[in-house]
Amino acid sequence: MDLMKLNIYDPADHPEEWTPEMYQKLEQARDIVEEWWLPNRRQLDRLGGVLAMTEMSDVYYGLHKSIIDAGFYGRTIPKEYGGPGWSLLQCSLLSAEITKVGFTPRLDDAFFTGEPAVQILLKWTPDEDAKREYFKRTLDGGFCTVWATDPESGVDMGGMRGSAVRDGDHYILNGPKWWMAMCSPGPVGLQWHLALLKTDTTKRTSGLTLFILNDEEPGIIRGREGDLMGARWGCARYELLLKDVKVQKKYLASPEGKGLYALVDGMNKHMANQAFQAVGVSEAAIKLVLDYTQSTIRWDHPIIEYQGVHFPIADMWVNAEASRAITTKACKLWDEGDQEALHGKWAILAFRMAAPSALEACLKGIELMGARAIEREEGWPLELMYRDSMIFTLYRTPNIDRKFLASYLVRRRL
Ligand SMILES: Cc1cc2nc3c(=O)[nH]c(=O)nc-3n(C[C@H](O)[C@H](O)[C@H](O)COP(=O)(O)OP(=O)(O)OC[C@H]3O[C@@H](n4cnc5c(N)ncnc54)[C@H](O)[C@@H]3O)c2cc1C
Repeated sequence: MDLMKLNIYDPADHPEEWTPEMYQKLEQARDIVEEWWLPNRRQLDRLGGVLAMTEMSDVYYGLHKSIIDAGFYGRTIPKEYGGPGWSLLQCSLLSAEITKVGFTPRLDDAFFTGEPAVQILLKWTPDEDAKREYFKRTLDGGFCTVWATDPESGVDMGGMRGSAVRDGDHYILNGPKWWMAMCSPGPVGLQWHLALLKTDTTKRTSGLTLFILNDEEPGIIRGREGDLMGARWGCARYELLLKDVKVQKKYLASPEGKGLYALVDGMNKHMANQAFQAVGVSEAAIKLVLDYTQSTIRWDHPIIEYQGVHFPIADMWVNAEASRAITTKACKLWDEGDQEALHGKWAILAFRMAAPSALEACLKGIELMGARAIEREEGWPLELMYRDSMIFTLYRTPNIDRKFLASYLVRRRL
C-alpha cells in the first residue's frame, strides 16, 4: 500500500475488478477525452446543442466518431449477439472513471453505456430479427435515445395522449414528445429511438407500447431546442412531434401494453450505471477540493489545515465511499440475476444515495473554492460538473423513486 497516495479509488489498485480489456478501454477513453473534449470543452459548453454541433462540427462529430471507432457502443450486448458482453459492474466502473477524467457525467453518456436500449431489446423485443438488427446497428455506431415524456403527463406516463393505431401490418404513431435528450442526428447517420405511445387509449400504463424508430423516418418533426443550464453540448434536447410516423409491426420494442414495463426494466439497469457516474462526480470533487485547499495559503497556512475545512471534506468522503459501496452492490446483484435487483430495488437505493451526494459534493467543493468557483473559467471544472450533474434530479425524479422504494419496503402498491 502506498501511504503517500491519495486515498480515493484508483483502478490501478483494483485488478480484481478490472480486466485487461477494461484497462485498455480506459486508456482509449483518456486519449479521446484529451484529444477532443478537454481542449474544446469551454466552447462546446458555451455554444451548446445544435450550435455546438454546427459551429464546431469537426469537433462534435470527431469526438463521437472516435468513440464509435474505438468500440465503445453496445458494450453490454451479449456475445451471442455479436457484442463484447460486458457486465453491468464492468460498464459502470468504467463510467465512473470516464466521468472523473472528463469532469462531467455527460461525457460518459456520449460513450454510450449501452443501456437501457440493450436491456429492452434483449428482454422485451418480440421479433428476433428486429432484435439482432438493432444490436448490429448499435455496434455499428447507431446511438439510441428514449422518447417517453409527453408534455402533458410528465412522470405520470399513464396519462399520455400520444397514440399508436394499428393499420394492417403497421402502426401509425402520433403525438408530442418533449425534453428528448441527445436526439440530434447521430455521427454516422444510424441514430435510432425507442418511442413510448398508447396502443389502447382506454387504459393507463397497461395501454402503453414501445416502438423502434429510425431517425430518418418521415414524420419525425423536430421543434424548439432547449437552452439548458447544464449538459448543454452533449444533449441537444428537443420538443418533437410524431406526425403519422409509420412503423412495421415487426419493430415493436415491447409486446403491446408492456411498453412501460420494458422501459422501467431498462431504466432500472441504467440507474445503477448512472449512480456510478455520480460516484465519479463525488470522487472528482474531493480531488479538486484537496488540490485547492492544500495549495492555497490563507493566514500563513494551507487552507486544509483549518479544522472547519476538515468537516465538509470528511463528509464528502463518507458519502462517496458509501455511494461506491452500495452502487457496487447494486451492479453485482444485478449481474448475478438477484430478483430484487432485477426489480430495481438496489439500483434505486444506490441512485438515491449517490446522486444527491454528487450534487452536494459539488456544492461543498464550490464553497471551499471561494470566488473562483463561481467564475465559469476559473471554477472549471467544478462549476461545469455541478451544472451537468443536475440531470441526476431528473429521470424518474426523486419523489417517484421514493414512492417506489416505500412501496417496496411495505410490499404493496402505494
Ligand atoms: C435535459 C433533459 C433531458 C431529458 N431527456 C429525456 C429523454 O431523453 N427522454 C424522455 O423521455 N424524457 C426526457 N426528459 C424528461 C424527464 O424525464 C422529465 O422531465 C421527468 O420525467 C419529469 O417529468 P416532468 O418534468 O414533466 O415533471 P412533472 O411530471 O411535472 O413532475 C414535477 C415534480 O412533481 C413530482 N410529482 C409528480 N407526481 C407526484 C406524485 N404522485 N407524488 C410525489 N411527487 C410527484 C415529480 O417527482 C417532480 O419532482 C429530459 C428532461 C430534461 C430536462
